[in-house]
Amino acid sequence: MGTHESQRLRHPIVIRHLNVLRVERLTLHMQRIVFGGSELDGFISSAPDDHVKLFFPNSMGELVLPKMGPDGPIYPSDREPSPMRDYTPRKYDAERGELTIDFVLHGDGPASIWAAQASVGQTLVVAGPRGSFIVADDFDHYVLIGDETALPAMGRWLEVMPATATVTLLAEIPDRADRQSLRSNAQFEVQWLERQGADAASSNLLETALRRLPTPAGDTFYWIATESQRARQLRQYLSEERGIPKDWLKAKGYWQRDGGEPESE
Ligand SMILES: Cc1cc2nc3c(=O)[nH]c(=O)nc-3n(C[C@H](O)[C@H](O)[C@H](O)COP(=O)(O)OP(=O)(O)OC[C@H]3O[C@@H](n4cnc5c(N)ncnc54)[C@H](O)[C@@H]3O)c2cc1C
Repeated sequence: MGTHESQRLRHPIVIRHLNVLRVERLTLHMQRIVFGGSELDGFISSAPDDHVKLFFPNSMGELVLPKMGPDGPIYPSDREPSPMRDYTPRKYDAERGELTIDFVLHGDGPASIWAAQASVGQTLVVAGPRGSFIVADDFDHYVLIGDETALPAMGRWLEVMPATATVTLLAEIPDRADRQSLRSNAQFEVQWLERQGADAASSNLLETALRRLPTPAGDTFYWIATESQRARQLRQYLSEERGIPKDWLKAKGYWQRDGGEPESE
């Protein structure tokens, strides 16, 4: 049994203007966009569930960015600010100078709409990551629970897991055509839970699958990323009904059913 020491890192915030190099429809509802450009040099992302802040063109098609003040970001008062959303650096290839981000096409909102129309040569602004939380790699087992917005983090995590790790993935997706091929040296099993037209915010496929999952043998780390209210309830179930210690559990709301900033869990 290991000591399970996770680590928190801080990174200086860098704001980068990047260009779209490639656009690929990865699955039915997932657009993979590869960004590059000289400002990508020195990009750091240390943990699979890191996030960057992406700034999208406002309704005038302009990128209007904040300046960092002593109390946080300050936007110009006479211009409509660029909408900002959180995304996972799916892959960073320093040698090729490429940053890959996978966007769920859920049909509404500036990020999803931008990703659906993205084409080579367009510019986007990427800030961060501001920090990383590196989960100890000496747990006996990992259970990763998430909807399609969590697939970039889960896919990236699987790729860096050691061969000694064992992993269970509960992945809720819109449709069978949203299954991804996942690679890992670890031993892993995936349950693809397909909503087939049901609403992503009120679905309970992950909840049911988790209740049915036998508690794995040994020390187990649980990671959850879904719509905020569901993330909170999943976390509550694990801590209150299964007695999972708080240091062995990380849950985060990745989006909110009524729009707005998801709160941290
Ligand atoms: C740490 C972190 C990492 C993330 N990584 C990724 C990532 O790699 N890829 C990714 O696609 N998303 C990721 N997300 C989620 C993404 O930030 C949200 O889905 C975001 O709301 C999308 O912005 P939008 O402009 O498209 O929609 P918004 O303007 O935020 O919302 C518009 C409407 O769409 C609804 N909505 C938002 N997201 C979804 C969804 N996924 N499914 C169904 N309805 C939705 C809202 O409830 C609202 O009604 C991440 C979030 C966090 C916090």
